[in-house]
Parts: sequence; C-alpha cells; structure tokens
Amino acid sequence: MNNKIKKYSNNFIYHIIDKDLKKNKKLSLHTRFPPEPNGYLHIGHAKSICLNFELAKIYQGKCNLRFDDTNPIKENIKYIHAIQDDIHWLGYNGYNNIYYASEYFEIFYKYAKELIKKGLAYIDELTKEEIREYRGTLNKPGKNSPYRNRSIEENIILFKKMKNGKFSEGQACLRAKIDMSSALMIMRDPVLYRILYTPHHQTKSKWCIYPMYDFAHCISDSIENISHSLCTLEFQDNKNLYNWILKNIDILHYPKQYEFSRLNLEYSILSKRKLNILVKKKIVLGWDDPRMPTISGLRKRGYTPSSIQTFCEKIGITKQNHLIQLSLLEHCIRKELNENAIRTMAILEPIKIFLYNLHENYEETLTIPNHPFHAELGTHEILFTNMIYIERKDFQEKYDNQYKRLKIGHEIRLRHAYIIKAEKIKKDKNKNIIYIICSCNLKTLGKKSSNNKNPAVIHWISVKNSFPAHFRLYNSLFNIKNPEQEENFLLHINKNSFIIKKGFIEKNLANDIKKNSIDKKIKLFFQFERIGYFCTDTDTIQKKYLIFNRTVSLRDTWNIKMKIKTTTNN
Ligand code: ATP
Ligand code: MG
Repeated sequence: MNNKIKKYSNNFIYHIIDKDLKKNKKLSLHTRFPPEPNGYLHIGHAKSICLNFELAKIYQGKCNLRFDDTNPIKENIKYIHAIQDDIHWLGYNGYNNIYYASEYFEIFYKYAKELIKKGLAYIDELTKEEIREYRGTLNKPGKNSPYRNRSIEENIILFKKMKNGKFSEGQACLRAKIDMSSALMIMRDPVLYRILYTPHHQTKSKWCIYPMYDFAHCISDSIENISHSLCTLEFQDNKNLYNWILKNIDILHYPKQYEFSRLNLEYSILSKRKLNILVKKKIVLGWDDPRMPTISGLRKRGYTPSSIQTFCEKIGITKQNHLIQLSLLEHCIRKELNENAIRTMAILEPIKIFLYNLHENYEETLTIPNHPFHAELGTHEILFTNMIYIERKDFQEKYDNQYKRLKIGHEIRLRHAYIIKAEKIKKDKNKNIIYIICSCNLKTLGKKSSNNKNPAVIHWISVKNSFPAHFRLYNSLFNIKNPEQEENFLLHINKNSFIIKKGFIEKNLANDIKKNSIDKKIKLFFQFERIGYFCTDTDTIQKKYLIFNRTVSLRDTWNIKMKIKTTTNN
C-alpha cells in the first residue's frame, strides 16, 4: 500500500465504500465532484476534490467533474474555465469527460412531469414570502397551500405553461407534495422548479424554468451512475429528499449519499458567495489575490499542488466540524520549501553601509551554497564591495543591552562574509542617515574576530550588484479566528493584510529570474535568509523591478506547537 492510499484508507467513508464494494462485487466505485460555477474554488473544495479523486484512484473507479449549473443568475462561463484550470493544477485531470447538469434539463423535465402524473407534485401560486410563511418553523408545523390539491390534469397544463413562459418570475413554481408537518423542514413540500428569465451560459434562452439543486442533484448522480455521492454535513437532511425523489421516479440507479465535515479554516472565509463580496467590494485584488483561500490565490501565493494535497491528507475526513489551524496549512508548504527552496539574500528595507577601509574598487566574488543541507542544489556567486545594503532594523542608533545587531562600537558578521564594526553615522542636514561607516576585517572569512567573539549574523547585498525588487508581504485577511461565524464579516478585515516593501536582490539572481521565471512563466521559490519563503510573481511582467510574493514566514508555529504537545504528553 503506498502512502497516499494509506492516508485515504483511514477514514469512515473509505470503510463504507470498502464494505459496499465487498458486498456487491458488480459495483464499481464512481464518485463525482459537483461544483456550482458561481465562483472560484477554495481550499474547502480541495478537500472534496482530493477525497473524491483519490478514492476513485484507490479503487480504479471513476470520478466525474460535473458542473451543477442550475442557477443562471449566479453562474458564469469564466468560473467554469477557472474551476477546470484549478482542478488540473491540483493534479486531478483523470476525469474522462466534463458533465453539466444543464445537459440533463430535458430529463429533469420528464421526471418532473412523472411526479405530477403520480400526484406527487403540484404547481403552487403562493408568493415566495407566503411559501416561507406557510412552511412553519421547527416548532410549528406548516400549512398546506391552497393550490396543493389541484387536479393532475390542471398541474400538467400549468407546468407546460410555466415552461412556455406564460408566467412571470415568482408567479408560479413546482413543488413536491410530501408532508407540510414533517419534522424535517426540507420535506415540507420543497420547491422543485422555479421560473427564471435569465439566459443560461450553456442552454441560452431555451429554458425559463430551472430545477432546484435537490431535484437536479440526485437525478444527475443517478444518470451518471454515481455509486457514492459524497457531500458535506449540511446536506444530511437533504438526503431524505434525495432518496424520496429517486424512489418516486422511474429510474434504474440509486446512488448512496454520505456526508463528511466541511473544512473550516482559521482567519478565512470558505464560501464562494462571501468571497465574491470581497472581490466585488474590491477588498482584494481579485479571486486570485494571494490573501484569498482560493486555489488560484494559494497558487499565486506560492503554494504547490502537493502542499495542498498534503494538507488535505493531514486534516482527514470525519463527521466532526472543526476550525482547522492556519498554521497547519502553512506547515505543509514550509516543509516543502525548507527542502527545496534556494537560499539567498535579499534586503527589504535597505540602509547603506560604507566599509571605509576597503578600496573604492574593491570587488570579491563569494561562492555560497544554494541549500545548507543539499549540496546537490549547487552554489551561486555573490559580490562583496565597499558599499552594501543591510536591513534598516539590523542597525540601531539608540539601543539597550538586549539589542544584539549592529550598533556603534560593536561588531557584526555579514552572512557568508566578514565581520564588520560600526564606527560612525553619516547623516544629511535633516538628520536622516545616509550611511553607516564601518570597518571591515578581511581576516575573518570563516574565522572568528581577533577578540575571539562570535557576533550575531546579518544578511546584506552589495549596492553595486543590487537590483530593485518589490516584496509583497501577505497576512491574514481577517483579524479574528472565525470570521465565518460573524454576522458581518466585513467588519473584521485586517487592514495590514498586504504590505509592499521596496528593496533589493542580487543582480545575477535578477537576471536568472528574468530569463527563466518571467519569460518562461515558471514560478521560482526562494528562502530569503532571515526573512521568509518567497516566490516570483509570474503574472506581473515588470522588468524595472522584480516582484516576489511572500508564501510563508520562516517560523513554523505548527511544528513548535506539536512538539510542545508531544513533550507534555510524554
Ligand atoms: P460555497 O458556499 O463555497 O459555494 P458550496 O458547497 O455551495 O460551497 P459547491 O460548488 O456546491 O459549493 O461545492 C462543490 C462540492 O464541494 C460540494 O460537494 C461541497 O460539499 C464541497 N465543498 C464545498 N465547500 C466545502 C468545504 N468547505 N469543505 C469541504 N467540502 C466542501
Ligand atoms: Mg452551492
């Protein structure tokens, strides 16, 4: 059993399927992923995609991609393309065909007529508000609609009239005749069809009546021979309607519905509808803004398909709703980048250092490893000269004893290079620092200083060999852990979720990136030492400066937390 199979064969859905397939040797596993094309996919969808496609792989079954496109008001062809791209990128292109619920409109119509003919559905002319009122509440049974007992013949005529555009929107709808006093609200004569005059992205203006999700979904599953229809826990009650519809129409195949908990992630909203509000209100730059929990946002941020898959494996499949820690998602990408991102230096907030005891033409090429533990990743060259940039926060004019970085009269080691000592500050007439004057001890490459001390290490870049770069630092979009629970999630936006720092990277590196990443659109990953993991932003072609997106910071809080937990458990 390979590792992936092991991960997905350890949940209750797998056990159900395994039992079903052992019991019925003729059954073959057929799952589906049924997004509604009303927005981009998010990390919650990734959980469902991984589950459905991985189970199909384990059992050499099939998994359909089906667009659940029964509401033309909210849907758009651009979402269909984006959803396909995201599923491909995640590594799941094993589906044979792409299916659309809208392909079955004719079949849905036929089954709706069948229910009417069996006296199990009727045309209601109550308004939307009246229907809601008549439905009752959890504590109060509903009331029958005055239209509930129309004759079958009248219902057939009226349904045809609905289809032929003889009613206006909201004037009539088709409802199942089940039980207005059912303990399950969903079974109180649910609406099966409604009138919408919005043209559909696939069927254009052919239809003006559209099936509701519950009616279309079970029939679509049956038509496609789905063996196990996996959905999230909110659909538990809907299962009764799912089964009621299939039982009452002349259909051959009965898929089984099973529910698992949806993914909820700290500091995130996982609902296409709400994410769309963020896009529309321009709170983010688009669906693929790196702060969005969308697949395309995560991709732009620097997440890889494997890191998302690993995350989905780690959270598992259960029936308990949890709020998953963001640090677990970050841990998954950090672990990968720690293994394979090239290490180099970058300066985000520069301040200049003048090494006065070096000749003004002093130039030394230093060869530094691309990875501290993976020699096979090679080396690269950096230039050392008498004028360098360091981070502004690595120097302090006024300091206390706690401050361990560069300060006047003290030494510091430049990463991969020499020990320098701060002597004086050169300021302009407004008292702004122009540069810090330091001495450089050229005898300290790989050696301690004369006083045998090992000073702190800071990163740097030669001014002569620098190239401008914008570093985009992303933080959580929300400043509370569970914005999904808030009535108005817009009140909890983190105003500091996007910060741009304008600094420098090595010129040689910039040339490499321009050649490979920008021209060929290949994303490259770096660990800028002491700063974080970054990737090139391949969408923004800007040759005067390069753009880097911070994927994740260096500190692994998930790992730290887990270590603390295991030590306290021991
Ligand atoms: P949204 O509110 O984001 O639109 P949805 O459930 O309405 O979510 P669909 O496009 O209908 O979105 O979802 C397609 C599939 O993805 C469904 O089977 C659904 O159960 C699953 N899914 C959606 N959100 C999550 C989530 N947060 N965790 C796990 N699965 C999810
Ligand atoms: Mg939906």
